[in-house]
Amino acid sequence: MSAAAEVATKFEELTLDEKLDRLAEVAVKVGLNLKAGQELIMSAPMEALPLARKITEQAYKAGALLVTTLYGDDPSVLARFQYAQDASFDYAPAWLQDGIANGFRSGAARLAIAGANPALLAKQDPAKVARANVAASKAGKPAMELITRHEINWTIVAASTPEWAKLVFPGEAEDVAVAKLWEAIFAASRVNAADPVAEWREHGERLKKRVDLLNARRFSALHFKSADGTTDLKVGLADDHLWAGGGTPAGNGVYCQPNIPTEECFTTPHKDRVDGVVRASKPLSHQGTLIENIAVRFEAGRIVKATATAGEDVLNRLISTDDGARRLGEVALVPHNSPIAQSGILFWNTLFDENAASHIALGQAYSTCLIGGEKMDNAELAKRGANESLIHVDWMIGSAKMDVDGIAADSTAEPLMRKGAWV
Ligand code: ZN
Ligand code: ZN
Repeated sequence: MSAAAEVATKFEELTLDEKLDRLAEVAVKVGLNLKAGQELIMSAPMEALPLARKITEQAYKAGALLVTTLYGDDPSVLARFQYAQDASFDYAPAWLQDGIANGFRSGAARLAIAGANPALLAKQDPAKVARANVAASKAGKPAMELITRHEINWTIVAASTPEWAKLVFPGEAEDVAVAKLWEAIFAASRVNAADPVAEWREHGERLKKRVDLLNARRFSALHFKSADGTTDLKVGLADDHLWAGGGTPAGNGVYCQPNIPTEECFTTPHKDRVDGVVRASKPLSHQGTLIENIAVRFEAGRIVKATATAGEDVLNRLISTDDGARRLGEVALVPHNSPIAQSGILFWNTLFDENAASHIALGQAYSTCLIGGEKMDNAELAKRGANESLIHVDWMIGSAKMDVDGIAADSTAEPLMRKGAWV
């Protein structure tokens, strides 16, 4: 028995501190694959401080030049919505975002810890929320472009925090809910495996195999059809689209896993070739607001009608951000038997929920999902059908009732998923 395996049989017996250290090690060694001498820029909610400290330790052990963490505080965000002057909602610190973009350009990696309260802004004025989001997206564009173009190695991991945990496990005492959410995060992030780093290597290879199969087919479109008829959507794929999943070689030469966890195979739809109706299979938590039962109609790539039973106003403001916000930038296939889907937990967090169901994303496309895309400028990317927008928002459409066909160039259909599982 190897030392790693001996530790693993006792994962449940580890202290929370030791479990956090495992997650931190996976984040730094697998998620970022941080290189010696590399700078790290991290963002984290205040309540994730214990995990942020563990990640900082692991980063320095891996040879980090400097770790700089920007902490977010939910009550301080709320204070802005309660007391700030009106002009505040059209402002974002471009100077800070430009500094972060400069850091990325000079070699820094980026890590985000997810864990903010998904419902923080649910009761705030949707107009102010939308204005603040637009201002933040505009200021953050230079840094975000370096991320969506995969110029740098980056990753996102999650931390269990009280408000989030209480939303996921309603009715539980706060400490019980927080502990349960931590266990769900550890399981989904595969850190309870015998050797988490080796487990991630194997998981990445399994996803790559699926990606290679999809790339070999050269489908021109995907057809999503739900048993109850609420989804009947044809998603045309971009010319020269590439499927990705299970890790990305970044432009700086570092191979990274941008999401911990990840279960998806994803690619770039054609921004003008999406038609039909689609209903979300899970609610969407977007920047502190909850949008439930999204139903949308696409014509020639554009959303022409969008409804929701909660957060409809936020949804319609979101898709009005710019022309690209009404169009798709990503389509992803995730089997309904993925470990996160099987857990049956609704996380109210896209990092987890998008890895439990097939999904689509409104807004910015990933240029790395096009053959040669990393070398193309925006005009050339658009010519291939890749969408451009200030936003990139994933929402879940897959379920155990969903069938997916791959449509070949000659219009013949090949079953890819039946009842949510790979054929
Ligand atoms: Zn995705
Ligand atoms: Zn996405």
